[in-house]
Amino acid sequence: MQAKATLRAVGSTPEKLLLAAPRGYCAGVDRAVQTVERALELYGAPVYVRKEIVHNKTVVEQLRERGAVFVESVADIPEGATVVFSAHGVSPSVHAKAAARSLATIDATCPLVTKVHVEAKKFAADGYTIVLIGHAGHEEVEGTMGEAPENIVLVQTEEDVEELEVPDPERVAYISQTTLSVDETRAIIERLRRRYPAIIGPRTDDICYATTNRQAAVKQLAEQCDLVLVIGSRNSSNSNRLVEVAREHGAASHLIDSEGEVREDWLEGKRVVGITSGASAPESLVQRLVDFFRARGTSDVQELEVVQEDVRFMLPKVIRQGLATSSA
Ligand code: SF4
Repeated sequence: MQAKATLRAVGSTPEKLLLAAPRGYCAGVDRAVQTVERALELYGAPVYVRKEIVHNKTVVEQLRERGAVFVESVADIPEGATVVFSAHGVSPSVHAKAAARSLATIDATCPLVTKVHVEAKKFAADGYTIVLIGHAGHEEVEGTMGEAPENIVLVQTEEDVEELEVPDPERVAYISQTTLSVDETRAIIERLRRRYPAIIGPRTDDICYATTNRQAAVKQLAEQCDLVLVIGSRNSSNSNRLVEVAREHGAASHLIDSEGEVREDWLEGKRVVGITSGASAPESLVQRLVDFFRARGTSDVQELEVVQEDVRFMLPKVIRQGLATSSA
């Protein structure tokens, strides 16, 4: 019995860990989380947050412990209170409902999501039918569709393109959710171009730099690993895409919230294990996973840097003004 137990432990201890770079927090998530933290410092608890500020269980729990109150709807917030809107963005109707309840709003929508909202408004004003490539039910998609509900149709797959019916095939535009698979989206856009040769799109890609870079990194990671573990929550779109991309590039891959979800059978016979994390997952979770493997005897830990990233977004104006006043 003893010998079997020892053999299994050795067989499931990887020789090497490879950490993708870039991974984890993007500039939009960092800004959103900091916005709630600074709001708590400036105004005190409770600070209400509509929906999860970012799609990560650990981040949400930590902010909840500090006094953030997460609600599904502005209707759940007492009149006159302070509310932060999440990084995924909200539709104009949510702004209107918040105003009707005299809420003090702090908008932590990522500027790269706002860019897509601006495109939607512009294409709608110019009379285009807008094809939004995205996932039904995702908060970002709901927010973007709310900008021009009469003009936007949602497409989730290449097959959906064939089902489309538009009033004028000569006036069609496309936009996309920011956290999709780069390759799948390209295929959908190609299909749209074949069906609507006059279709126009945004001047620069809607899939954001962080999604693009993390997918580029996980592709290379997967090619060098037997298993890729992606740290991220189930409702994190970009994290789910990382698992899919890793699998498409030859590695077994699983999404985990933390090291506690690693299953022994995943590790059997895996020599090189890759680790990456979604744009809403804090680095502390990566380090905990590395420590988990170090404790089992893996000492070779290397980073695979594929792209250098140096993007930062300013905090929302109301927070910057609050901080300036409080330090004056
Ligand atoms: S994943 Fe991209 S769009 Fe979403 S918050 Fe991060 S930078 Fe912004």
